[in-house]
Amino acid sequence: MRILVLGGGAAGMLAAWRAASLGHAVTLLEANGRLGMKLRISGGGKCNLTHAGPLQDLLAAFRKEQARFLRPALHAFGNEDLLALLHREGVETYARENGRVFPLDRPGSAADVAAALEGLLRRAGVEVRFGARVTQLSGAAPRLNALLLEDGTHLLADRFILAVGGASYPETGTRGEILEALKGLGVPTQPWFPALAPVPLLRPHPEWEGVALRAGTLHLRSGPEGKRLAEYTGDVVFTKSGISGPAALELSREVEVARRAGAAWLDYALSVADEASLDSELRQLQSGNPHLAVRNWLLRCLPERLCLPTVISLGLPADQRLKDLPREARRHMVAMVRGFPLGAPGPVPLSRGEVAAGGVCLAAVDPHSMTVKGWENLRICGELLDIDGPVGGYNLQAAFSTGYVAGSMIS
Ligand SMILES: Cc1cc2nc3c(=O)[nH]c(=O)nc-3n(C[C@H](O)[C@H](O)[C@H](O)COP(=O)(O)OP(=O)(O)OC[C@H]3O[C@@H](n4cnc5c(N)ncnc54)[C@H](O)[C@@H]3O)c2cc1C
Repeated sequence: MRILVLGGGAAGMLAAWRAASLGHAVTLLEANGRLGMKLRISGGGKCNLTHAGPLQDLLAAFRKEQARFLRPALHAFGNEDLLALLHREGVETYARENGRVFPLDRPGSAADVAAALEGLLRRAGVEVRFGARVTQLSGAAPRLNALLLEDGTHLLADRFILAVGGASYPETGTRGEILEALKGLGVPTQPWFPALAPVPLLRPHPEWEGVALRAGTLHLRSGPEGKRLAEYTGDVVFTKSGISGPAALELSREVEVARRAGAAWLDYALSVADEASLDSELRQLQSGNPHLAVRNWLLRCLPERLCLPTVISLGLPADQRLKDLPREARRHMVAMVRGFPLGAPGPVPLSRGEVAAGGVCLAAVDPHSMTVKGWENLRICGELLDIDGPVGGYNLQAAFSTGYVAGSMIS
């Protein structure tokens, strides 16, 4: 059978290799001049390619409906299968204590993974066409007939596998336009939505760039005193325009949902003692160590660069001592440490997400074959599906697994 695979990322490479290994004539179309651009920058160039552990645990990291959809694909080609395949191709891997799996630590290790997959494609006889950006899909249910390239060429095939990824980091080739084309054909889709992205703040602190708040919990609230909507325990790092770090990335999707609903506020609860214990510690110090500067006491809770600005934001002089710290200011300060205010978020950028939420609706796709329901020759895999897992190797594993299944066709 003649198969066209569109998109040479993690999902498309697995799909093309698998289909060619089963004896099909496969052409892989890639808009860029090389394969696996996003794979090469993933994990900061180190490529957190999957997560170790039982498949049940991997599935539990995804939202319920995504886990239900991914189950057959992970059972067909799970983390152990991926690692066995890469090991056979000479890529050595290791798992960190937190379960994240990487190729052996050395510069350019993500490129090793891409090179291994390229080797597999070559040996399976996949024809790769670079600089081939598809702009339109033509056909009507139940059959897709052709793909139209930017240069006006029409390409025909018996089967089509679409693996064009999401819509973040457009400089890696993913502009998200094929989702629109699918929508035009009547395939059910969800619009792209930012996820795993840094969160801008309406009043950022560029002077704190690089400062980290560690081991506490980032809270998303409906307002400064509002209801808690979501939370994530992990570090936050100030950037020029807002916050990044694991907790910011993981909450970014919920932040954008709340922001669009007009009610979003962020604060960070440092994992020091509770308010009552902190207040009692301060009261004891006021008599035991009255000349201690408030900014020096704050060092116990906050990074140094935040201590003086905190004192000043409380309306206190820079050299305020504990002995004459007013009761109200003391209480206010303790509350601030337990919920360091970050303020209202700005629009979370789709383009800077490690993944894009949205995509082809999972209910429209058969999870055992990745065939779009009602379309006999159209399969979808990878981030183009409405799947967005957390940080930790889950998204690449989802792309590899769904790609493998999409390429698994006998006739
Ligand atoms: C900065 C960053 C770091 C990340 N780190 C990790 C990590 O460590 N671990 C993890 O699990 N996940 C990580 N991810 C997410 C992960 O990279 C993606 O989920 C995964 O690459 C998706 O694979 P895919 O094959 O579906 O799409 P992609 O890898 O994006 O591949 C899609 C391909 O299709 C091509 N294409 C797009 N449109 C067209 C078109 N119209 N015509 C022809 N070709 C087209 C693109 O050029 C691209 O090569 C990271 C993402 C980013 C942006």
